[in-house]
Amino acid sequence: MQTIPSATINELIERYEALLFDAYGVLVHRDGPLPGAPELLARLNHLGKPFYLVTNSAARLPEHAAQRYQRFGLAIEPEQIISSGGLLKPYFAANKLQGSRCAILGPEDTFHFVSQAGALAVPPSEDFDVLVIGDQVGFPFLESMDDVLSRLISKFDRGESPPLILPNPDLIYPKASGFGMTCGSMAVVIESALRQRYPGRKDIHFVHLGKPETPLFEEAARRAGTRNLVMIGDQMDTDIRGACRFGIDSALVFGGVTELAFHAGPAQGWPTYQLASL
Ligand SMILES: [Mg+2]
Repeated sequence: MQTIPSATINELIERYEALLFDAYGVLVHRDGPLPGAPELLARLNHLGKPFYLVTNSAARLPEHAAQRYQRFGLAIEPEQIISSGGLLKPYFAANKLQGSRCAILGPEDTFHFVSQAGALAVPPSEDFDVLVIGDQVGFPFLESMDDVLSRLISKFDRGESPPLILPNPDLIYPKASGFGMTCGSMAVVIESALRQRYPGRKDIHFVHLGKPETPLFEEAARRAGTRNLVMIGDQMDTDIRGACRFGIDSALVFGGVTELAFHAGPAQGWPTYQLASL
């Protein structure tokens, strides 16, 4: 396995015009800040160094996410939070989905993202035009999955092909102890079930909006006014591959989801640096 050069956070601050951070596994875990994160953000603010949070979460509006991070002692403003939920609006506009009936699995703020995108929320038990899975919490899990599956099967039986949209494709995330299931896993279950029932159909797949797709990075570069950026993340499949696809450098933080030993190598996207700590 190829060795990855080590860097310190100070070297990254010197080398790049702005820093991009993943949230979970880098700055926070589910219940609080990770060691060194509050001090680092305070220092970046003191230095006037631009930084942005680039997160696959679609569970909180930026203003609510900022309030939560501020309670954790992280000095970050809503304008610095770029989340996959915010990608629903341009996606719905580009695909003429405004005004559609949208079944949503997620908490209240996912509904706000969909409303900002111009669609109408309907319960998953009713007929819908579009499905958005925004998060794994905020609804009765099994009942809602059953409703969505039943409705999708009746639609596919009629030959319909509703857009299936997944802002956050993460499968798992690190908790204070152990790991938790993320909503990307729900999409995998639905896709597997539908493919078993409709073998050969090519239209059974969720559209992924967040990392490793590039729209979040495009928005970060737009806000930062530069592509001289480094993405600091804990996941090879999302943070590091996304940065590689977008063509910016990246730094892998260990201790989150990634075990590098299981990853194939540079052909799939490889971090520019490893970062031992913040
Ligand atoms: Mg992470």
